[in-house]
Amino acid sequence: MKVVIIGNGLAGVTLASNLFNLDESIEIHMFSEENHPYYSRVRLVDYVVGNISLDELFVYDQNWYAQRNITLHLESTVKAVNTSKSTITVEAREGAATRSYDFNYDNLVIASGSKPIVPDVPGKEKYGWHVLRNIEDADGIKEHLKQVERITILGSGALGLELANAFRTGPNSRDTAIIEIQPTVAPVYLDKQGSTVFLNLLERAGVKILVKTEVTELVGDDKPVNHADGKSFRGSIEGCRLADKTIHKGDMVIFACGIRPNVDFLRNTPIEIIDGIVVNECLQTSVKNVYAVGDCCEYNAFIYGINPAAIEQAKICAQNIVKPDGKARPYRGTIPSVSFYGFGTELVSLGRINDYTIDPDELKEIYSYYKVDMTLGIYKKILLNKKHHVIGAILIGDLEQQLDLRRMILEEIDVSGFEEQILQDRFSLREWV
Ligand SMILES: Cc1cc2nc3c(=O)[nH]c(=O)nc-3n(C[C@H](O)[C@H](O)[C@H](O)COP(=O)(O)OP(=O)(O)OC[C@H]3O[C@@H](n4cnc5c(N)ncnc54)[C@H](O)[C@@H]3O)c2cc1C
Repeated sequence: MKVVIIGNGLAGVTLASNLFNLDESIEIHMFSEENHPYYSRVRLVDYVVGNISLDELFVYDQNWYAQRNITLHLESTVKAVNTSKSTITVEAREGAATRSYDFNYDNLVIASGSKPIVPDVPGKEKYGWHVLRNIEDADGIKEHLKQVERITILGSGALGLELANAFRTGPNSRDTAIIEIQPTVAPVYLDKQGSTVFLNLLERAGVKILVKTEVTELVGDDKPVNHADGKSFRGSIEGCRLADKTIHKGDMVIFACGIRPNVDFLRNTPIEIIDGIVVNECLQTSVKNVYAVGDCCEYNAFIYGINPAAIEQAKICAQNIVKPDGKARPYRGTIPSVSFYGFGTELVSLGRINDYTIDPDELKEIYSYYKVDMTLGIYKKILLNKKHHVIGAILIGDLEQQLDLRRMILEEIDVSGFEEQILQDRFSLREWV
């Protein structure tokens, strides 16, 4: 069997190694538009601020692939998929030239990941704004950092917070502010009350954060900027114009405004796409021998965009490719999970905690318990459904119950006999089940 994998990120490599472990005779080909073997995206922030070197980013070298019967095609962008012929069209960069060719497969797995969302604000022709998704982006930020005094991060999600924390405390420490368009901080991972507690902690730690603030333009001078790599820009950014017409000063802007699946190259195929590639519980797309895993896919109308989902999907997908008769374990979704450690506090958001993940009809049946101590900077909340299952939890400043809560959510434990105890100090699930 010949399996072609588009993408060499976490989902792609997990899938490839699982396929090899299940059946060593499978011929595996991975196509990556990037120029590196597998590296950790999660550590890119550490690389940007100089906490780790480029070498420390890499997780696997070329031998890792060779030992698993995997052929890695680097600098090879998949431009199109022909599902009726079971072929992909590849554009490979060979020095200054490019070569286009078709490559056939028995099974295709799309693990093309996602790209950062860049809002459509005027001023993007100027030098000074960035996203962070790959090594090239990171190198661009590192280079620019040499001449930057003030950084503005747009978006207060996990990446925005992590960047702000790293820029404030790392060896490349800079004056950093976060601008968030929503009225709450980390709106996808927190509820309103959690946001108030967290915002208070950020402000106490001296973090500049503007919520409910919209950037309407990137402003700066108009002097042409020409870089050694041939890129040219019409001016340099000096700040962001806000909706109230004031200027927030800062010569570097980083967009951390969420992600969008990489699916454009599939537009002319019968593969169903809504926001991401639609997959069923076998991680199969609407075309039988085509699968999708990781940030590029959506399961049950949800795009996870986190490592645990990419790993779980890839493992189950590999089993389904090897046993396509429905005998493999089905995928039932992953518990959304985000952790943040920084600014002298810690935060974990687990499962479904707000209307990003709970639909309005279900929301009516959800009830919750919470505990808050503004002085100590502690907020703990659990959300339960009518079957008395914990479906989500937020922990700020005290993560003690984290493992128990993960288990309660994962195993859908009926907590009706002890639900009021869960947020008490020294609660232990072992004493109740
Ligand atoms: C800076 C940063 C920090 C993060 N921190 C965390 C964290 O702490 N915890 C967490 O759970 N998640 C984190 N994430 C998210 C996590 O990295 C992603 O969920 C994970 O990388 C998804 O893996 P993937 O393989 O689906 O996609 P990716 O890792 O994006 O890999 C997809 C690959 O496919 C390539 N590709 C795309 N289209 C094509 C094409 N047409 N042809 C060839 N190649 C193509 C891309 O270039 C890319 O190399 C972070 C992400 C970033 C950027």
